[in-house]
Amino acid sequence: MSTSGDFDCIVIGAGVQGSFTAYELAKRNKKTLLLEQFVLPHTRGSSHGQTRIIRYAYEQDFYINMMRECFQLWAQLEREAGVTLYRQTGMLVMGPEKSQSFQLLKNTMQRNNIRVVNLNRDNFNQHIPHVNLAEGDGALVEVAAGVLYADRALKTAQGLFQKLGGVIRDQQKVTDIKPGPVVTVSTSSGVYRAKALVITAGPWANKLLAHTGLELPLEVMKLNVCYWKEKVPGSYGVKKRFPCFIQTEGVESKQHIYGLPSNEYPGLMKICYHIGSITDADHRDQQTDNTDIDILQRYIARCFPGLVPKPAVVESCIYTLTPDRHFVLDRHPTYSNIVIGAGFSGHGFKFGPLIGKILTELSLGEVPSYDLSPFRIRRFPSQTKSAL
Ligand SMILES: Cc1cc2nc3c(=O)[nH]c(=O)nc-3n(C[C@H](O)[C@H](O)[C@H](O)COP(=O)(O)OP(=O)(O)OC[C@H]3O[C@@H](n4cnc5c(N)ncnc54)[C@H](O)[C@@H]3O)c2cc1C
Repeated sequence: MSTSGDFDCIVIGAGVQGSFTAYELAKRNKKTLLLEQFVLPHTRGSSHGQTRIIRYAYEQDFYINMMRECFQLWAQLEREAGVTLYRQTGMLVMGPEKSQSFQLLKNTMQRNNIRVVNLNRDNFNQHIPHVNLAEGDGALVEVAAGVLYADRALKTAQGLFQKLGGVIRDQQKVTDIKPGPVVTVSTSSGVYRAKALVITAGPWANKLLAHTGLELPLEVMKLNVCYWKEKVPGSYGVKKRFPCFIQTEGVESKQHIYGLPSNEYPGLMKICYHIGSITDADHRDQQTDNTDIDILQRYIARCFPGLVPKPAVVESCIYTLTPDRHFVLDRHPTYSNIVIGAGFSGHGFKFGPLIGKILTELSLGEVPSYDLSPFRIRRFPSQTKSAL
């Protein structure tokens, strides 16, 4: 085993959150090491795939507030790197008009002056062709929302990090962490030391935190990522200006269903259910419950008559859920030079550049730019396991 020099900071996990944190640290002239267990790029965590939705549409003011800066940071990154990472499509929100979730979303956006176009039953199909609005559903379009090119974004953040002198070591699984004023991190092929450590290990967070005496109430869930064939290619495509969409709840879907216009696989539209099956990150392929696909098939047959209601491609991805579905952005309760970014609960990608900034601020001992009380570890009743 070799000891490979000392760093200002080590970041464990090169998903979206770790990659942006490493890049932000390098921008602040910190000597930074980014460790990843798999060969990059890989598809075994939560950040792979070509697209994610970016939107203001949230029920909570604090997320909308953070999203204002996120949109700016994505645009800044596009300029810095000279690549396109965002495509504005708008996002259609549909849901039972009188339901709490639809009203809350609508009111929060209104209160925060987010640009929306309200649709009614009479003008709905003029704006949104080939979709059947369910009986009793209301609809609106959030204008600024769109698609982020996920794989490209990760590659961009990692590339800019390396350009600034940052070191990425992939295929190095972290096997041990020894906390202290200088943290020692052991991997399958090296030992590294740093003044600070950031853990952004996605669904493996608790496996790493176990080395520090901490366990968070996280649930790991496998999601089926389904692509559906257009009967007429392009009818739900970005070129036809078809928007992303969220169905807040439906006849049999308690969680929301969401979709993105056809883009990454020509002629196929991505539509997924926001809930899957509890699993373990290392054994997700053994999880074969497809209840979500059955629900989606019936939804598509009812509401998207221009799609073949049988998935043409099924991929998988992982959510790491907290009980309240809000993130964990905090310092370790015992070791203040260990910072944790976890539990992104299936909606963290769009926040990547801002999470990088916040975790950097925490790891440098600075006052964070946002009120982090919704994201504190102490909101969970008990987290610390027996002392090491
Ligand atoms: C199907 C699906 C759709 C989604 N849609 C959206 C969307 O539309 N909009 C949105 O904003 N968000 C969306 N999300 C959520 C978003 O993608 C995640 O919140 C985000 O990718 C989480 O990133 P992460 O860096 O925390 O985790 P990950 O991407 O899992 O990264 C963690 C990394 O840590 C590495 N690691 C773990 N343990 C070790 C170890 N011991 N040693 C070294 N490395 C280790 C892993 O290999 C992995 O690369 C979606 C997620 C899924 C699954």
